[in-house]
Amino acid sequence: MKPLPFRRTKIIATLGPATESEEMLAKLIRAGVDVMRLNMAHAKHDWTRMIIQRIRAVSKDVGREVAIMMDIKGPEIRTGDLEVPIELQAGEIFDFTVKPEVDRDRGEEIRSVDVNYRNLVNDIRIGDTVLVDSGLIRLEVLEKNDAHIRCRVLTPGQLTSRRHINLPGVHVNLPSFTEKDRGDTLVGIAEGIDFVALSFVREATDIVNLRGFLKEHGSRARIVAKIEDQSAINNLDEIIRATDVLMIARGDLGIEIPLEELPVVQRRAVRICLSIGRPVIVATHMLESMIGQPMPTRAEITDVANAVFESADCVMLSGETTVGRYPLDCVRVLDTISRRIENELANEYGEPSVFLAERMKILRSAVLMADELPNSSILCFTRRGITAAGLAAHRPVRAPILGITDSVETLRHLRMVRSVEPYLLAAFGDPEKTITRAVELLLGQGRIKSGDKLVIISDIMTASNQRVDSIQLRTVA
Ligand code: PEP
Repeated sequence: MKPLPFRRTKIIATLGPATESEEMLAKLIRAGVDVMRLNMAHAKHDWTRMIIQRIRAVSKDVGREVAIMMDIKGPEIRTGDLEVPIELQAGEIFDFTVKPEVDRDRGEEIRSVDVNYRNLVNDIRIGDTVLVDSGLIRLEVLEKNDAHIRCRVLTPGQLTSRRHINLPGVHVNLPSFTEKDRGDTLVGIAEGIDFVALSFVREATDIVNLRGFLKEHGSRARIVAKIEDQSAINNLDEIIRATDVLMIARGDLGIEIPLEELPVVQRRAVRICLSIGRPVIVATHMLESMIGQPMPTRAEITDVANAVFESADCVMLSGETTVGRYPLDCVRVLDTISRRIENELANEYGEPSVFLAERMKILRSAVLMADELPNSSILCFTRRGITAAGLAAHRPVRAPILGITDSVETLRHLRMVRSVEPYLLAAFGDPEKTITRAVELLLGQGRIKSGDKLVIISDIMTASNQRVDSIQLRTVA
């Protein structure tokens, strides 16, 4: 096939019923998928062998060799089978049982479901949160004994068979490489997979152990460490150093840590990977709405763009290509956005001409100084908002910009400018007196306190009564 238009960012597609046919595999490869992912949480061994051989054969036919990543399940806790779904009600008391026979003998009447991990009762504490089915159902642990944990339902929902359980903040004592993982990996090794992705990596030794296993069985497959919970975040540096590739597995990670931490962790993990040259994958929910719709949401477009702006090596599709209705369109969307953003990065702004003006150099110096001084704020006087916006354009990261204006219209305009907190102060006059009045206003509002540093952008009067620009550093008395 003809070479595809150059794209820096790589695309990973997870295979499933929507994409397993030879015809679809060929289309995915032609559309630019770089890595095929097999999710072993759902794959049987016969299927795994078949699909690996099929990918190799189709790659050869198409004339573009793609990689295969086997994603093994790791220490996952699931609920057992249910004959009929249970509608959990808010406030209901509900048991997760590890010894159903004991509960039966005790005549427990509370509704319950089995859990596939016997030690759960030892790992969990009273007051912990149990999340079921990607966090859709939330429960709080009230009490426990050797046979079950007893919970109160906080967020109700329908519980069906074999749902994934997340326990935020709980250290689960399951081995990182389970018997099932071992069996799956041996099949992968025999078929010549290129990558093994290890789920729920908690520390560097998890990777070291898997590396030993691969070596022992003569495999040169590279390791992808999936970070999915708080332990991985705590040990992020050592995990990144130990692994060959990192995957930010946002599906589980987004449940296990507070939601506002997810983008912070993504950015931090990508940066650490870049700093030591470790490839990094941003995964999950990139085009989730396209499982059922032909177009992505605007937020998804921006999320993909953000991963490319961050310089991630790969973006990944899961449900979008396993069961989605538009797998090929998803790949095209990732391809188009990636190439557009990469082009943008290549042309990334030299200094915009507005920054070249002499006044902007003064403002830049003020921002640099304020950002380097602890407990400092930038205080500026701005009639039309130009000085405040000029300071904001230099994007201070620590110091706020306290923009004093004598115009209510300007104050409102500044409501839209990053970093600026506008204040109204009537009738500017002599510069020194205006500074004094502004400081009194800010002290009165509790915005600054004695001992704080102020980097002040203001006019001063020379001896010959000329106004000149100044940057002053003062300490609040
Ligand atoms: C994830 O949680 O984001 C992920 C990629 O892992 P899995 O699909 O195996 O749950």
